[in-house]
Amino acid sequence: MKALVKEKAEIGLHLKDVEVPKVGDNDVLIKVKSTAICGTDLHIWNWDSWASKAIKPPLTLGHEFMGTIHKVGTNVDRFRIGERVSVESHIVGNRSRNARAGRLHLDPDTINLGVDRNGAFAEFVCVPQSNIVPLPDEVNDSIGSILDPFGNAVHASLSFDLAGEDVLITGAGPIGIMSAAIAIHVGARNVLLTDINDERLKLAKKVCATEVLNPSKSSIKDKMEEMGLREGFDVGLEMSGSEIALKDMIQNMMMGGNIALLGLPSTPINLDISEIIFKALNIKAIYGREIFETWYKGLALLQSGLDIKNVITHEFHYSDYEKAFDLLNQGKAGKVILKW
Ligand code: NAD
Ligand code: ZN
Repeated sequence: MKALVKEKAEIGLHLKDVEVPKVGDNDVLIKVKSTAICGTDLHIWNWDSWASKAIKPPLTLGHEFMGTIHKVGTNVDRFRIGERVSVESHIVGNRSRNARAGRLHLDPDTINLGVDRNGAFAEFVCVPQSNIVPLPDEVNDSIGSILDPFGNAVHASLSFDLAGEDVLITGAGPIGIMSAAIAIHVGARNVLLTDINDERLKLAKKVCATEVLNPSKSSIKDKMEEMGLREGFDVGLEMSGSEIALKDMIQNMMMGGNIALLGLPSTPINLDISEIIFKALNIKAIYGREIFETWYKGLALLQSGLDIKNVITHEFHYSDYEKAFDLLNQGKAGKVILKW
């Protein structure tokens, strides 16, 4: 089968012929139909300092995808051949305190598809049956392949009650944009999404009716006053990984406000903790998705009319992968899909 493989410790990927994975007793073999490229895949493509430590080539990349069930192991009886599915990319253990208590997203023995073991940028991928999520008909193949980052947005956004609240989201990458769409869908009063890249703000406006602001051109404080907020934002969703954005957010929160931290800073950051304490802020770190409650809620939001389709800006055949990675490296795209 064809697969996009990081062959050696160097920049780029190669389209290779590799063996179809063997199917274990508790595994499912999926015929991949649609995949999406994640920031993680870009790090691996670019072979940056994180990737060179975390990745052991040769490795088939890819963890955002959907496909159809092609073959099942001898212990698998709950899926039918041809069924449309997506997959939770975190493969968890069953020994830790958290795993045994059902808090699967907090299992320290988690391994990641397309990072720690061969992933889905291939014609077939093999995963444990417990990671499969059947797709409802309302969710098309392209959306079915971005449910992993959509799940990050759902997990962060639904961490706090947003109904009637004023929400500040920093970072209009795909996850920030989808979070703005979710916040509006679930009834937030005001949603302000910031980014220093105007292209990204333009894309956000195509996805949902969020207010946007470029903090390198005007201040969040002025915008807040213009929007009629007197005491600051109730909820903050940090989705840029930028130190400046986080500090700006803390300054513009109301006393006792809630912040979800999802963006990953690339280097350690400097924070004045006393500012957080004197504002009595409640900060929650978000990792991955709650398995499988986030999947349930996310699919339900889509079935109830949440529309995120415009966050997908490009679709390519997998053989055009170089064009796709190039676009993303130039910061000129939202979600980019590879069809298999
Ligand atoms: P992305 O890199 O596409 O988007 C980040 C955006 O932040 C960019 O558009 C960038 O221009 C913007 N930005 C930079 N500085 C800013 C500032 N000062 N103010 C406002 N915006 C600023 O990323 P994404 O794919 O949407 O993911 C969002 C973040 O979440 C990334 O940091 C990613 O690494 C992280 N992430 C975390 C998890 C998790 O489990 N916690 C999972 C997936 C991704
Ligand atoms: Zn991802």
